[in-house]
Amino acid sequence: MDYEYDCWRCWETNCVYGEPKGFLTVWYELPGEWSCWNCGAINLTPDD
Ligand SMILES: [Zn+2]
Repeated sequence: MDYEYDCWRCWETNCVYGEPKGFLTVWYELPGEWSCWNCGAINLTPDD
């Protein structure tokens, strides 16, 4: 499952891949932080 987040620095859209967790559950584990493909800034995954 991919989630789209905007970089805080350049506002470029990044796709963050969430690892499926468990079996038959609709729950995906997202990395706590990821770096922007465009500018390399470290972004924190926002909590819902
Ligand atoms: Zn960026």
